[in-house]
Amino acid sequence: MPEGDTLYRVAARLRPALDGKELRGFEAKRLLGDKPKIGTTIESVEAKGKHLLISFSNQLVLETHLKMSGSWHLYRTGERWQKGSHLARCVIEVDEWVAVCFSAPVVKTHHGSADDVLSYLGPDLTSENPDLELAVTRFGECCSDDTQIGVALLDQRVACGVGNVFKSEVLAALRLDPFTPVADVSVGMRGRLIATAHRLLRANLRGGERRTVVQGLAVYDRKGKPCFTCGTPIAMRYQGEHSRSTYWCPRCVSSE
Ligand SMILES: [Zn+2]
Repeated sequence: MPEGDTLYRVAARLRPALDGKELRGFEAKRLLGDKPKIGTTIESVEAKGKHLLISFSNQLVLETHLKMSGSWHLYRTGERWQKGSHLARCVIEVDEWVAVCFSAPVVKTHHGSADDVLSYLGPDLTSENPDLELAVTRFGECCSDDTQIGVALLDQRVACGVGNVFKSEVLAALRLDPFTPVADVSVGMRGRLIATAHRLLRANLRGGERRTVVQGLAVYDRKGKPCFTCGTPIAMRYQGEHSRSTYWCPRCVSSE
């Protein structure tokens, strides 16, 4: 699934092709909201967490949320697409380029600026200097006391960018039990979680194989394999109302 580090690269790839260009064609069959007008200028392409925002000159912002299944492809005009056109949820044409969003569950437009649209989201931990303190306070404002920390870390109102892989990896790095209620996680530990998420996401922005420890990933997708620290088999359990897979070493973790 796309994590913040992936979306950051998507934006970096689309930006040079679309930024500052005049819109030549736009197609989105299930678009929620107004269609951008042909001839308007694309003013910015940015990722915030798992949301990709494309702003048009007439104060309209296109938001795609890729969730589990979506992806953006960039093609030269006339180039053959790698997926069927029936899967296209949004097609943006400018001179020389066609950007196609496949299978995204959310494609909508908002009036206003990109900042207005996403003000409810927490700081983007893939960015260079996010407001880490704000993210720490958001745990208390956005999560109830009994929300488990493994669920809270995925809450995009707390911070953007942490997906299911980094959730398990950040908790493993700090040896914190993913099932600990937020109320039992000290402010100091909340700060370390956010700082660690920021560090690990930044370290993986270049792409390639994700790496949080020398061996690769410490716990994610390693169910039954020995913990690199103590040799205990890594455990996996589905967590939260969305049943997201959570990996941890039962011996290494504590609830602080
Ligand atoms: Zn262990």
